[in-house]
Amino acid sequence: MTTTTHILGYPRVGSQRELKFAQEKYWRGEISQQELKAVGHELRLRHWGDQAEAGLDFVSAGDFAWYDHVLGTSMLLGHLPKRHRHGFPDLDTLFRVARGKAPTGCACAASDMTKWFNTNYHYIVPEFSADDEFNVSWQQLFEEVAEAKDSGKDVKPVLVGPVSYLWLGKEKEELGKETGFDRLSLLPRLLVAYQQILTKLQKLGVQWVQIDEPVLALELPKAWRDAFKIAYQVIQGGPKLLLTTYFDHITHHLDKIVELKVDGLHVDLSTAPQQLEEVVAALPQHWVLSAGVINGRNVWRADLSAQLARLAPVKAQLGDRLWVGTSCSLLHTPIDLELETELDPTVREWLAFAKQKCREVTLLAKALDGDQTAIDECARYSAPIKARATSDLVNNPAVRERTAAITDALAERQLPYAERARVQRESLGLPLLPTTTIGSFPQTNEIRTQRRDFKAGRLSEQDYTTAMKGHIADAIERQQRLDLDVLVHGEPERNDMVEYFAELLEGFAVTRFGWVQSYGSRCVKPAVIVSDIYRATPMTVEWTHYAQSLTNKTVKGMLTGPVTILGWTFPREDLTREAIANQIALALRDEVADLQDKGIKVIQIDEPAIREGLPLKASEWQTYLDWAVKAFKISAASAESETQIHTHMCYSEFNDIIQSVAALDADVITIETSRSDMELLKAFEEFAYPNEIGPGVYDIHSPNIPTVDHVVALIEKAETLVPAERLWINPDCGLKTRNWEETEAALTNMVEAAKQLRKQW
Ligand code: GLN
Ligand code: ZN
Repeated sequence: MTTTTHILGYPRVGSQRELKFAQEKYWRGEISQQELKAVGHELRLRHWGDQAEAGLDFVSAGDFAWYDHVLGTSMLLGHLPKRHRHGFPDLDTLFRVARGKAPTGCACAASDMTKWFNTNYHYIVPEFSADDEFNVSWQQLFEEVAEAKDSGKDVKPVLVGPVSYLWLGKEKEELGKETGFDRLSLLPRLLVAYQQILTKLQKLGVQWVQIDEPVLALELPKAWRDAFKIAYQVIQGGPKLLLTTYFDHITHHLDKIVELKVDGLHVDLSTAPQQLEEVVAALPQHWVLSAGVINGRNVWRADLSAQLARLAPVKAQLGDRLWVGTSCSLLHTPIDLELETELDPTVREWLAFAKQKCREVTLLAKALDGDQTAIDECARYSAPIKARATSDLVNNPAVRERTAAITDALAERQLPYAERARVQRESLGLPLLPTTTIGSFPQTNEIRTQRRDFKAGRLSEQDYTTAMKGHIADAIERQQRLDLDVLVHGEPERNDMVEYFAELLEGFAVTRFGWVQSYGSRCVKPAVIVSDIYRATPMTVEWTHYAQSLTNKTVKGMLTGPVTILGWTFPREDLTREAIANQIALALRDEVADLQDKGIKVIQIDEPAIREGLPLKASEWQTYLDWAVKAFKISAASAESETQIHTHMCYSEFNDIIQSVAALDADVITIETSRSDMELLKAFEEFAYPNEIGPGVYDIHSPNIPTVDHVVALIEKAETLVPAERLWINPDCGLKTRNWEETEAALTNMVEAAKQLRKQW
């Protein structure tokens, strides 16, 4: 009665980000496609080696991707945007769809990219048209399966399921034509292709296929719910199917799921442990249940003893039909904790990355099978994470007291917005349509090198400070020349808007190699929230105060908000997200107070991550939004009425959260709008958003310099939606990625546009 062990996928990028570097070299024409493919092959073998060494019953195939696994699925299905269909699709086709260009072939617009559920991973959005066909063409998956077999491994390929594939894509409107086309109508054709894929996998000797239907965690419209029945009726007769769900519970669809013609179900018991009993009770007699108990989205060592106790009765009931695995693909975790030699040894014992998580799975399974050595080992392994619960390193009574004392009043400014606006107008003395930027200025090679040298100890603290102040002075001087109204210090000292604060706040651990793929070759290295968070010393005051000392104009202080710091780090699991956000909020609140005491009159608290923190189930949105808004407000509310609080967000969708955006009660919000031609402002107009707004007036992602007329036209459009008295003029965010020449040219035109418009008033 042995328990089957598996993972839902392994990170593909390599512990030293080998895939990233090879991809980028290939794109630059520095290596051949053969060389790139060799790196991919090498990584797959290594990762299968890791999985086999850990003792997993299957290695995972189909989780590798040259850019993204949803795009890989499109390639497999021979289903690419029309403009990219020339001849037989190959690796360069894939890169063209992802990036708009590749070493060979023509340049055509890339496909859109969007967030993979509520993670920080981005996938390439499939584009659907009414006459789309699916022709299994690209052989990558089959080659990988054969490769794994050749290396002597039992392989379980993973496929994005047909319903999820359709759901995750979007209809491509044909311009000027109201097609009324619904992509769900493509399902029958799509299923034929899936059928072919499964037949082919069976011929390759595959026993089990993991078919991912993560959309089952969502609250789906009826037509989509019903689509599952048809889909799994059609794709029969191939290998056994393990239907995998993750990121949330699926009990709301359970009655439908158990009627599907599959051979097993995987549920995420990390995010949603409460669903276990209900799922076990409903499980059809011949199905296996894959218990996803090892968290694929976080970096904590599992409490295997606790899991053992929890799963033992299920094991007794299901016997061989119980599988153990990771909650989701390990794509979302760093690869190897062994590399983190500089972490505090106590903290290190609390963590596990992908490689370690594979071992957790197999150790737990052995213990479940009654192996006494494994049971003892589980207890030993879990001891540090158990001890953490009461560790002085983690629990800080002062922080707990302060969060426990949070009241609703703590989140409120002293005066309502309308009155604050009057006070601020007087104290700031800004013109109509004030101009500003979103915070960062070009991060030159010199800046990056100095920061790196300082970190590595090659540059003394004093020399580093002098250097950064030099960049700040330079940025201030340029902004004065440009005649901007509210200046910024330019963020030269920040490598990343979250990591910067994570390094300065108490309670975070920062890794050296904890990279996680964000999109394509881009990786992020989120900090880990290990303990109660507080601010030991001011974090931004010296830089901001220095910048303000250089000018008579107002300098805007620049902070990252609590929800964004939380959202872009690995959170601890023994506190709610709300509780962690409140701790961060209190730390930021003190920073706001200190900035204000030092004479800073405008403070921006960036919250670009509020939207992406939304729960998967729409019915849970409001609860989240309520605490997220409150955390932001707690951080801002130490500001006196004269101190102007800005916030910044960069989404493409405000309609469904506009009420909460307004509830933030920021005096000014700047948003990314230029690419939507001010359309985004409609949500603000319809809601009668009361406070001031700075819609981005040019797209900083393009090197093109906006003309004065272009900016004037956009602002005139904005004025039809928001009264001019409440409009600010600023670019979109991200100036750190541009150079000074472009930045100055663009801002010159932006300021000129503001001046022209003021004359008309
Ligand atoms: N202040 C940050 C900057 O300008 C904001 C970044 C963001 O919006 N993601 O770089
Ligand atoms: Zn932004």
